[in-house]
Amino acid sequence: LERTLDVDFYHVQELLADEEQERAVRIREALEQHVTPIIEDHWERAEFPHQIKPIFPELGVYGPLWEESRLWENTALYRGWVALEFGRNDASVATFVGVHSGLAMNAIGMCGDAGQRAEWLPRMARGELIGAFGLTEPLHGSDTARGLETTARRVGGEWVLDGAKRWIGNATFADVVVIWARDVADDQVKGFIVETATSPGFTATKIERKQSLRVVQNADITLEGVRVPEERRLQLGNGFRDTARVLALTRAEVAWQAVGNAVGAYEAAVRYVTEREQFGRPLASFQLVQDLLARSLGNITASIAMCTRLSQLMDEGRPYDQQAALAKAFVTARGREVVGWCREALGGNGIQLDQGVARRFADAEALYTYEGTYQMNNLIVGRSITGKSAFV
Ligand code: FAD
Repeated sequence: LERTLDVDFYHVQELLADEEQERAVRIREALEQHVTPIIEDHWERAEFPHQIKPIFPELGVYGPLWEESRLWENTALYRGWVALEFGRNDASVATFVGVHSGLAMNAIGMCGDAGQRAEWLPRMARGELIGAFGLTEPLHGSDTARGLETTARRVGGEWVLDGAKRWIGNATFADVVVIWARDVADDQVKGFIVETATSPGFTATKIERKQSLRVVQNADITLEGVRVPEERRLQLGNGFRDTARVLALTRAEVAWQAVGNAVGAYEAAVRYVTEREQFGRPLASFQLVQDLLARSLGNITASIAMCTRLSQLMDEGRPYDQQAALAKAFVTARGREVVGWCREALGGNGIQLDQGVARRFADAEALYTYEGTYQMNNLIVGRSITGKSAFV
């Protein structure tokens, strides 16, 4: 009997231009060549594979949205499909790119003026500077809009930043970190480009013993009297509303990455149940195992369809913030189910790194929580349905 291993069950890739499909395949192949052979070991050791960094600039994955940094014109659907390919290979590497390109470069692209975009984006696109994005704090995660405590004080032509950040991806080795701080004069949240090597008072300490996305280097940051010239304040970021615009954009990408993470687990499970035999037959021939696979493919297919339409809305220039929040919540929740079913299909080997499912099982947890938790994104949607904010 003919069988399909292709998770793109409804042929969404055909909506991409031929050139975009070819580029996505090139990215998949580069990840399979450079990331696949080393990733489980790095995951286990919680180390970032710095040797893979040089492959990304030429693949055009850094800052594809901005004229200053993109290598070619591209669509949101293409960028989404690329995020899926990253997530399918490894969600930590996807997150590394998501933080550098999605959060840091998009913060500069959306909230920086033309001069700031020209100054920072080309070097970040070439990978000469790696970025991070510092919003979350030790005492404020979901409530950063209201509670953010890091302060920015204007002193002459400079700003002085004081405070602490937590969970900041890439921050142990980033060259530039966009720090979000509250201007003590007008109480508004503003973004500042902090150059880590030349900013006394800035320290980043790796968060150890993480059990999800172990390859991502998350850090606690302290800012003690860090001085930032006015030219490094993001000139078009004048309140949390602007920070939220960046988050809506990256949320759409995280949704695609999360589909990819589920796809990676599903593909590994299909391979495994086809090869492994019990009761003298392949696991794949049992009805209950097939049910796990069909349910997984259903979740993946629904998620791809939702993300596809979200990307089309973005390409059409229509509002998408609410849709991105719903997609991020829905897809990460469905992805969490998929990795659970796939883990189950592998029996004991499902909790062992070598089979490619355990890592995705653990990583689904962080995807479900960062870039707005499941609850926060649903509350954004709930506010849109009812007109009532239930955050507080
Ligand atoms: P909390 O806000 O304390 O929430 C705990 C629980 O309470 C959650 O389930 C939440 O949904 C729920 N909750 C909170 N308020 C409400 C409410 N009003 N109603 C209902 N439920 C509620 N941040 C950055 O700035 N930069 C990064 O690069 C970055 N990378 C990250 C990478 C990883 C691996 C992780 C785990 C986090 C990262 N974060 C980063 C932080 C991330 O965005 C936060 O973890 C997230 O926003 C949740 O905040 P919290 O962990 O403080 O949880």
